Amino acid sequence: MKRTIDDIRGDFPILNRECRGKPLVYLDNAATTQLPLCVAERIADYYAHSCANVHRGAHLLSEEATDQLERVRGQTARFLNAESEREIIFTSGATGGINLLAASLGRAGLANGANIVVTEMEHHSNFVPWQQLCHDRGLAFRVVPITESGELDREALVRLVDENTALLALTAVSNVLGTVNPVGQIVSAAHAKGVPVLIDASQTTRAGRLDVRALNCDFLCFSAHKMLGPNGVGVLYGKEAMLEKLPPSAYGGGMIDSVTAGETRFAELPAKFEPGTPNISGILGFGASLDYLQELGIDEIAARERMLLDRAEDSLRAMDGIRVFGSPPERRGCLSFAVEGLHSFDTAALLDRLGIAVRAGHHCAQPLMDALGVSGTVRMSPAFYNTEEEIDRFCASLVRIAEMRRSL
Ligand code: PLP
Repeated sequence: MKRTIDDIRGDFPILNRECRGKPLVYLDNAATTQLPLCVAERIADYYAHSCANVHRGAHLLSEEATDQLERVRGQTARFLNAESEREIIFTSGATGGINLLAASLGRAGLANGANIVVTEMEHHSNFVPWQQLCHDRGLAFRVVPITESGELDREALVRLVDENTALLALTAVSNVLGTVNPVGQIVSAAHAKGVPVLIDASQTTRAGRLDVRALNCDFLCFSAHKMLGPNGVGVLYGKEAMLEKLPPSAYGGGMIDSVTAGETRFAELPAKFEPGTPNISGILGFGASLDYLQELGIDEIAARERMLLDRAEDSLRAMDGIRVFGSPPERRGCLSFAVEGLHSFDTAALLDRLGIAVRAGHHCAQPLMDALGVSGTVRMSPAFYNTEEEIDRFCASLVRIAEMRRSL
């Protein structure tokens, strides 16, 4: 990276605070990343200098806010290498985007005998909306299992996706195991059967460059708050031709062309899918986070995060009394483990006492927990602003916890 880590950490004041009397080690980045000051400043700047509603105002402030918001749409399209800004829909997050698509597909009508395919490693956000849609419409809901090593069972995937599949919805990276799924290959195989694919990219926005044209996916979603942006903002990308065919998922102001008592004509893309006042300040903050990530370099960020994760995995695997879940050939973003004989919440609570923030529990992935045969795991997830020393402190703390457990 062009800047030193100390310099970069200076952009994130929270990283210098203490927790429980110890310097904070924040290793819960798969849940939410920290915001650099420039993102918070961008949000404050909107409220301080150009706060107004977008798209409808007939005055300068509204024009300015609209221009700024639409600039972020353009920036997002370039970030994803989308063909057009019309393919970028701002949502409240990955969950919002997936529910939007599920509602729209449901409204579009799905053929009798159709099925929807998800995987066992999905976050509930990319599982429950499809399960419920299938229940409501009497469709078959199919779940691709995982293998011992925590990868997708590719044979089952080939078997379960067929010409009656209305959608294959899968994550690019597991939010529990860090498994990287070969989504490019999976999209090609699905398309060979005429099946559209939604990629949940929530855990992969910092893991390398996203290129929807290279992936050739039909839909893709993510949240800003896992990529240094604010909460409550996300993106649903859809190929223009697919979005054109779909009806709106929700109604309101801003998404219409004309309304009479007898009929409503809907606006063009992307407004058709964006009813109501969007999270304007959040979208502008998201734009600032994209600038920040791109200035540091996504490839450099991805390489550093990989190095930190590998360092943690190597240490954990060498420890007595620690079980690391899964052994996929490619792992990104996070690692799940258990201290033998300790509940995941107890391990996380002990780490918290030492100032180390990790996540414990089912990680909104209960079907995956069932497949692993556990009620929960402990998950550590570094970001580029973490240091090697922090990883070592986390590992040393785990050694202490495992020893303490053994001595009981
Ligand atoms: N999908 C994955 C893979 C996730 O990891 C998460 C959040 O942890 C989500 C979806 C949901 O994201 P959000 O709560 O921001 O909508």
